[in-house]
Amino acid sequence: MTASIIDGKEFAARVRAKVAEHVTALKEQHGVTPGLAVVLVGEDPASQVYVRSKGKQTVEVGMASFEHKLNADTSEADLLDLIAKLNADPQVHGILVQLPLPDHLDSDLVINAIDPAKDVDGFHISNVGMLGTGQKSMVPCTPLGCLMMLRDHHGSLSGMNAVVVGRSNIVGKPMAQLLLGDSCTVTIAHSRSKDLPAICQGADILVAAVGRPEMIPGDWVRPGATVIDVGINRIERDGKTRLVGDVHFDSAAQVAGAITPVPGGVGPMTIACLLANTVTAACRAHGLPEPE
Ligand code: NDP
Repeated sequence: MTASIIDGKEFAARVRAKVAEHVTALKEQHGVTPGLAVVLVGEDPASQVYVRSKGKQTVEVGMASFEHKLNADTSEADLLDLIAKLNADPQVHGILVQLPLPDHLDSDLVINAIDPAKDVDGFHISNVGMLGTGQKSMVPCTPLGCLMMLRDHHGSLSGMNAVVVGRSNIVGKPMAQLLLGDSCTVTIAHSRSKDLPAICQGADILVAAVGRPEMIPGDWVRPGATVIDVGINRIERDGKTRLVGDVHFDSAAQVAGAITPVPGGVGPMTIACLLANTVTAACRAHGLPEPE
């Protein structure tokens, strides 16, 4: 293997430690305890795991965690009513509605009902627009975590060719905006892109956010490139359930300069950035200086 491993687990632990320091300072110097409310509708097993993990890590950094678990058949009116209450609650600085929502609920409507200042997932249309126009906003956690790892590894990203495979609203598009904001030359590829191998081979930075196990092999990777694998796919191999990314790790690691593993790469950074966004929201709510 030639690539160095970008250790998201270790990086996320550093981010959480900094968040914990800020939380202590906010409590001691200003009497402010940042609070994160997480809303889960239904019993999707993966969502339950994420929500549990978010709640646990929120408490570990000293913040207040408010969990709202609603039945799968909760009406849109009841969900909107809860969001209105959380918007008005001064103890709640961040609100996250776990996606996907059950089919009878309109995700766009629900997300856009969150106060943009408390939208720590960065999915509200105002935050999306502000990110796109380079204004100070709440930035979606997964792409933010990817950007932090890239900046940490490279320093400046200016002038680099970045390819993002995937154009979802929660990963691909905001990732591309962030890379553009850091002066990369950005290409967004998707299921209709022609000659995906050639597009990927042009990347100094290759971000895979597709949701297809090990779709990107090593020979699509430019020698020395930095590969960020956002994909989390469960597969059966050798009679066991395993987590793999969208990149074929073993072959890509032979060519890349640096690569994130799955698990232990982008995944842990997502929750760490959620906690960081909640501290930022708490600082803004109280007119206090934001953490860097
Ligand atoms: P979506 O399903 O919303 O989007 C997938 C994107 O991949 C789409 O834009 C789609 O293109 C594109 N795509 C699908 N097939 C191909 C193909 N054959 N070639 C090129 N592009 C293709 O997924 P998400 O963005 O929500 O998530 C992507 C992955 O990231 C998943 O594995 C998910 O589990 C993981 N994830 C990980 C997180 C973390 O914390 N690490 C957080 C969020 C997601 P088109 O638009 O044309 O259909």
